[in-house]
Amino acid sequence: MTLQDRTCIVTGSSRGIGRGIAEELGRHGANVVVNYRSSERDAYDVVDRIDSEGGTAIAVQADVTDEAEVEAMRETVTDTFGTANVLVNNAGITVDKKFEEMTREDWDLVMDVNLGGVFNCTSTFFPDLKEADHGRLINISSVVGQQGNYGQANYATTKSGLFGFTRTIALELARYDTTANCVAPGFVKTDMLDEVSERVQEKILQRIPLKRFAEVEDICGIVRFLASRDSCYMTGQVLGVNGGMEW
Ligand code: NAP
Repeated sequence: MTLQDRTCIVTGSSRGIGRGIAEELGRHGANVVVNYRSSERDAYDVVDRIDSEGGTAIAVQADVTDEAEVEAMRETVTDTFGTANVLVNNAGITVDKKFEEMTREDWDLVMDVNLGGVFNCTSTFFPDLKEADHGRLINISSVVGQQGNYGQANYATTKSGLFGFTRTIALELARYDTTANCVAPGFVKTDMLDEVSERVQEKILQRIPLKRFAEVEDICGIVRFLASRDSCYMTGQVLGVNGGMEW
C-alpha cells in the first residue's frame, strides 16, 4: 500500500489511460478523485471498481477548461479528503487535420484542453502541492510531443509544451520538496487511438521496436511510482513509455 493516505486527483479518468491510472492508484491505497467532463456513468464505474478492490474514490465532474468548475472540484476534494498530495494532469483531446486544413478553432480547442486545462488544474491545486507531504505533479504528455506526428500540429504543440512547463514548475516547486515530472506514452489502445485509421495504425506499428501498441496498464505503474514517496529525488524529468520509439 505505497500510496496509503495520499489523495490523488486524476483529470480525465472516466476512460482510457486516466481510468487505468485512477484504478492503479486506488489499488495501492490512495484516496482517488476520478475527474470527468461528461462521461458520468463511466466515472462512477471507475469509482465502483476502486471500491470493490478495497480502495476509496469519489467522482467529480469538472471541465478542466472551466476555472470555476476546477475550483469547485478543489472544494469538494478539500471537504472530502483534505489537502491533495498528487495531481495527474491527464485529460487531453485530439482534433487531427493536416496543418493546411487546420482552422484556428481546431487549434484553440486543443490548446484550451491540453494546456489551458493543465494551467487551470495546476494553479488551482498549487497551494495543495506546496503544502502536501511529498507533493507530486505528474503531466501526461506523449511521444508525439517528442517526434511530431503527421496531422497533429495542434496536439504535438501541446504535448511538447508540457516539457517546458514541467521543467519550470519543477524548479518552482523544489523548495517545497514537491516534484513535477512528465510521462510521455507512446501509442496506447484507447478511444483516442481508435480514431486513427487502420492504415495509419499499421504505419505507426512499424515504427515501434516492441512491435505492439501499449496497453493502458503499461503506463500506470510508472505513474504509480511517480505518485509515491519512492520517486522523491526525481524531478523535472520526461519518462518515455513508448515501446522503444526513438526521438
Ligand atoms: P481518451 O480515451 O480519449 O480519454 C480522455 C479522457 O479525458 C476522458 O476521461 C475524458 O472525459 C477526459 N476529458 C477530455 N476533455 C476533458 C475536459 N475538458 N475536462 C475533463 N476531462 C476531459 O484519451 P486517452 O487516450 O486515455 O488519453 C489520455 C491522455 O493521454 C491524454 O492527455 C493524451 O494526450 C495522452 N496520451 C494518449 C495516448 C494514446 O495513444 N491514447 C498516447 C500518448 C499520450 P469525458 O469522457 O467525460 O469527456
